[in-house]
Amino acid sequence: MNCTKCKTKAVIKLPRHHAAFCKGCFTGFVHDQVAKAITSQKMFGKDDRILVAVSGGKDSLALWDILLKLGYKADALYVNLGIGTYSERSQEKVRRFAEAAAAPLGATLHRHTVEQEEGAGIRELAQLVHRPTCSTCGTIKRYQFNRAAIEHEYDVMATGHNLDDEAARLLGNVLHWQEEYLDKQGPNLPASVEGFAKKVKPLYRLAERELAAYCILNGIDYIVDECPMAQGARTLLYKEVLNRLETESPGTKQTFYWGFLDKQSRKASASTTMTEKDQAVLHPCATCGQPTTAEVCSYCKLMARAKTPSAS
Ligand code: SF4
Ligand code: ZN
Repeated sequence: MNCTKCKTKAVIKLPRHHAAFCKGCFTGFVHDQVAKAITSQKMFGKDDRILVAVSGGKDSLALWDILLKLGYKADALYVNLGIGTYSERSQEKVRRFAEAAAAPLGATLHRHTVEQEEGAGIRELAQLVHRPTCSTCGTIKRYQFNRAAIEHEYDVMATGHNLDDEAARLLGNVLHWQEEYLDKQGPNLPASVEGFAKKVKPLYRLAERELAAYCILNGIDYIVDECPMAQGARTLLYKEVLNRLETESPGTKQTFYWGFLDKQSRKASASTTMTEKDQAVLHPCATCGQPTTAEVCSYCKLMARAKTPSAS
């Protein structure tokens, strides 16, 4: 098997693109896909300051690496969830990458430790408020990433969601006809109101296995284990189903998700509609000032309940 581009020995086959690449051409292909995502979706420019949400996993570390190599001004934020050795090991991966690869390019790593800032690890907090761990985690991460982006005046926040993540999420939203979520499923969510950071997903054109291969070929050491709380999550089932379809018919995931984006972009300016809708329903949280649809935002409610668990 030879590289489709330079004809030397290929190291990876990409059935969905009818192509195979050597290490150098594959790295170029990955960078091109990200560059294409950034420009076609008008995510950000070379002068913008970007905050990357990093977890220690392959996607977010690859994203940070690619943005820096493409010449963007990208810092990162790591949230330590306090999930035993998993959090310790993932933090160590992030710290090493930041020191060896990001700092020499002038990039900074910010860190937020849930045990210190919220008073307990994510599992204990979830128990205190009688909510599933992943939903508690989602509330805290969304809040803290947005807060860090606003406080440090970043122009945009970038997450490492890949094609598999987005296709699985789309499948879930379609299966349950969650129209409100469908409206917000794009890779570029505008900063619709003051206090909300713009959010983008520059890896949406790349599959999970392509990002794993990118990390391995480019010496990026990431945490291979999934978060222990992820076991049994519905998204994993959707990913399995999509992987079966992809094996039978390469390109299914991209046809599904990119097709959705195509339809979305043809709808009367989706981002304007989203901004108008947000502006109509969002106002500052009475406790912290971050935008919310209720009087008090879900993070502040969660923290209040965690402090008085008997009241819940
Ligand atoms: Fe958080 Fe759940 Fe994801 Fe773990 S699996 S990082 S607890 S949302
Ligand atoms: Zn609040």
